[in-house]
Amino acid sequence: MKSLREEIARRIVENMKQQDEFTDRKGILNEAAMEKHGLTKWVPAEGDNFIQMLPLPEIDEETTVFRKQVVRLTTLAFPLWVHWRVGPEGHSFLCLRKMYGKPCPVCEEFNRLRARNEPWEVLKEFSIPTKPNRWFFYIVDVSDPSKIEETGPQVFLCPVTVKDEIYGRMLEKSRTGEILGVKFLPTDPAEARIFKFHRSGTDRGTTYTECEYCDPTTAEGKPEDISHLAEGLPPLEEILYMPTYEEVKEALSLDSSVAGSKEAETKSSDEVEEVGENEDDFAQSLEEQVDRVFGGEDEEEEVDEAEAPQEHYRVVRGRVRTKRVR
Ligand SMILES: [Zn+2]
Repeated sequence: MKSLREEIARRIVENMKQQDEFTDRKGILNEAAMEKHGLTKWVPAEGDNFIQMLPLPEIDEETTVFRKQVVRLTTLAFPLWVHWRVGPEGHSFLCLRKMYGKPCPVCEEFNRLRARNEPWEVLKEFSIPTKPNRWFFYIVDVSDPSKIEETGPQVFLCPVTVKDEIYGRMLEKSRTGEILGVKFLPTDPAEARIFKFHRSGTDRGTTYTECEYCDPTTAEGKPEDISHLAEGLPPLEEILYMPTYEEVKEALSLDSSVAGSKEAETKSSDEVEEVGENEDDFAQSLEEQVDRVFGGEDEEEEVDEAEAPQEHYRVVRGRVRTKRVR
């Protein structure tokens, strides 16, 4: 018979597992479309991971449902703004405001609570960072080359820290740190590289270390020929799930007095100022620099005015964060 200690230990483990599933509930990816295209979500294993990136399908800026600013940030990866653990059911949704330029019930709730001077502890549940808090990659797991064809391309919702390493390590910089260009473009078959990183821990305790591109001239680092797997990758409009306003509102479980609040309705959701402890706020400067290299001239044509006043804050946060990380 099991001791009480064993029983409690077993339950803790079980609960933790369930929590993982709970916080990872559907909302971001369109499960049906994923299945239709035989795509699965890739999650880094604990230990060493070896991946190669595939180029993203072209996005037509004129016809896409995504905001132009979002499309313009896209290079190797596609930026995502995710509201995690929305409402009692713990659903996750792409932010309708940040991603699609539409009213977002979660952002509206943030505004409403902020207008009531609620403390950050309360507000943060509804906040969305200024910068993307996830990045979408199409990748191929090349850890075991014999499994590549069977598994095929996968979707990686990449944490910002890993994305920064993927980008940062392919840049060519001057001694003073100025970005001069890219050393190689890992999605170009002629310049392909394997990206390696190490995952420790799970859930909130997860860390990623030992990030590097493998030396392509070595046996271990020789990239696989995966270019044929890039063909026919479905467009992101299809794979990313755009929720309806009602759906998100319902997930928030707002009662009618809250949902009908005049405050929330008269205030443009673009007035939301993302302040405070958003973990991933520091990352954008690198992305912006990379985009300057790749992006062409029209990059600054359309400035998101609602976000302009945050520049100062962004820089300060970036410094603090950089110190802590490096
Ligand atoms: Zn939102």
